[in-house]
Amino acid sequence: MPDNSTTSNVPYHRVLLKVSGEALMGDQAFGIDPGMISQVADDIKAAVEAGVSVGLVVGGGNIFRGVSLAAGGADRVSADHMGMLATVMNAIALRMGLEAAGLNAVVMSAIETPEIAESYSQRRALEHLDAGRVVIFAGGTGNPFFTTDTAAALRAAEIRADVLMKATQVDGIYDADPEKHASAKRFDRITHSDVLARGLRVMDTAAVALTQENDIPIIVFSIHEKGQFSEILRGGGRFTLVSND
Ligand code: UDP
Repeated sequence: MPDNSTTSNVPYHRVLLKVSGEALMGDQAFGIDPGMISQVADDIKAAVEAGVSVGLVVGGGNIFRGVSLAAGGADRVSADHMGMLATVMNAIALRMGLEAAGLNAVVMSAIETPEIAESYSQRRALEHLDAGRVVIFAGGTGNPFFTTDTAAALRAAEIRADVLMKATQVDGIYDADPEKHASAKRFDRITHSDVLARGLRVMDTAAVALTQENDIPIIVFSIHEKGQFSEILRGGGRFTLVSND
């Protein structure tokens, strides 16, 4: 079993990368852009080749969001079940992309889909990661009323990730939406408690609180800049760091 701590030439031994469904859409209005899948796969490959152990939590907003259907009067629990299934679809697409890039990858789902994915187990996930496989966590937390951001914080704690990396549409956290407010101020660093106190909408409150309690830093960076993920893991890149100090 390879011990990445001895082979890694980067400061992180294990990372949890959150890829939102929106990130997988590319320029499309809906669904999965194969070009984005291969971009994400190439970024992860560079990280794995640098000795980093990578877990992925994938969203589903490019296909379905439970809250949108519930807003129209549908039962929220059933709608969220549909959302969780959307994350399984994205996870399968990412597994294919990672395999095409030459990596070993497994999908572990929080909702039972035995013909499609392994059922999530923390111990089995750690075995896969220790064996150098990329583990894609699908199905969010497996519970309605949660988001895949919270699933990312939960899995990061469970796999003992050194950092939660959140790939977003912009290059960090701003005090207002930079796409709407030209004067929005970007943070290089900010604390978890400041993110919560200022109500910054980078991740949902539950996710930020869980990472705060478990002292897991969050790095927010742009999915649109190719190679950023591995660049940041090498100690460079452009991002906002959220930490307890
Ligand atoms: N979801 C859920 N429980 C979870 C995670 C996700 O019910 O623990 C459902 C929910 O309906 C959500 C959808 O799955 O809208 C897609 O997840 P999310 O909105 O977090 O995806 P992203 O915004 O990252 O693409």
